[in-house]
Amino acid sequence: MTIQAPRTPGVVDDASERVLEPEARQNRAPEGPVKVVHAFWLAGMSCDGCSISVTGATNPKVEDLLNGVIPGLPKVILHHPVLSMEVGEDFTHAYELAAKGELDAPYVCIYEGSIADERIAHETNGYFSAMGLSSLSSDEENGDGQYEAEMPMPTADRLAQMAPGAAAILAIGTCATWGGIPSAAGNPTGAMSVMDFLGKDYRSALGLPVINVPGCAPLGDNFNETVAAILMFLQGMGPLPEFDELGRPAWLFEETVHRGCTRAGYYEEGVFAEEYGDKECLVEIGCWGPVVNCNIVSRGAHGNKGGCMAVGGPCIGCTMPGFPDKFVPFYEAPPGTFVSGNASRTLGFGIRRLRAVTNHKVNREVRWDELYGGEVPSGWGDVEKPGPLKKTAHFFYEKLQFMGNKKKPGRDDSKRWHTDMPPRARNMQAPHDVSGTAESEGRAREDVDETWGSR
Ligand code: SF4
Repeated sequence: MTIQAPRTPGVVDDASERVLEPEARQNRAPEGPVKVVHAFWLAGMSCDGCSISVTGATNPKVEDLLNGVIPGLPKVILHHPVLSMEVGEDFTHAYELAAKGELDAPYVCIYEGSIADERIAHETNGYFSAMGLSSLSSDEENGDGQYEAEMPMPTADRLAQMAPGAAAILAIGTCATWGGIPSAAGNPTGAMSVMDFLGKDYRSALGLPVINVPGCAPLGDNFNETVAAILMFLQGMGPLPEFDELGRPAWLFEETVHRGCTRAGYYEEGVFAEEYGDKECLVEIGCWGPVVNCNIVSRGAHGNKGGCMAVGGPCIGCTMPGFPDKFVPFYEAPPGTFVSGNASRTLGFGIRRLRAVTNHKVNREVRWDELYGGEVPSGWGDVEKPGPLKKTAHFFYEKLQFMGNKKKPGRDDSKRWHTDMPPRARNMQAPHDVSGTAESEGRAREDVDETWGSR
């Protein structure tokens, strides 16, 4: 009895010279509207972080997709190795129907984790990641007069079988999109991404290349939103969402994380954190945000809250194809910081001071400047009055602000406050009685007249 190497489509099998490619299939997924869509989750070399992230998403929620409560969208039937109730063959049966093209509804495949080169594992009669048993039974001949033993079926083989008929293939997380940590330098598994595995020419039944939603873990909201957009397209309710040249949803990944970072103002003014816990920009303690395509800070990690830099963690580039090898050593300033950080520091030094002067000007009510001679009536502390230098700077700033035809707000005369300097209510007491009787009202009126005088 021989055990055949698990097939690894997309690569040449040295022993047989077979080029194992996913079969081209002519049938196309039905165009909408459809009532249900199956989503087959396949887990390769993953840590399940993507699953956790997706189940925690809030916009839209997995539950909303599964219950079909989003107007116009079909109900999603999720087949998930961890979340599904079925086990064993009851669980894998639907996968096999889909692979044979016998499912009664369109389906998408979602791949989590990277894809190992199973030929390596086969050298020791093992496997790296598998789901269910190979559908070849132990008494089927493999073509050499030998018989196959039933063995765990590599998840990648399932993907290869299902890919041609899928309406779309979605790679979730950095392992599936680019290879991620399992494919880091020195890895023993030959790990690769879904895109590497299926190849450049792969097209789904809807004519789509692999869709990539990276991140380690990815934002659940990014993924669910992409699924919802694809379902709308499948329903004929919306255009094909825009994807970039690497198959990422363009509207989610076109900007760098730095552009949406809550600390970007510090970077611009050249003020940098020196240790963890500091509130300033983290670039000098290892943040790669300026060159990383990601929306985690602008969107928030979960429920629009959190995100790496928002909670004090420098960006280590986990959404990028070059992760992790091109971002090591972690937590050290990226080499480009020497130029850009020092340029920000130099320019920011002057900008920061000019902004402080303007901030002093706009942090004061006009009344305080015009009627109180700069004194601020705050009981919370002494606020510095503008000195001659600041007054001059404020004067010229205002000239610039209202240069040309721009009109200053309010009336342009000395009576703009409708009165001269008002009496200060230093001794104002609360009315003794607020019961609303004629007597108490009269007394309150007297108090007010005493304070304000009559106009
Ligand atoms: Fe940019 Fe990182 Fe600094 Fe945020 S912490 S401003 S992403 S360099």
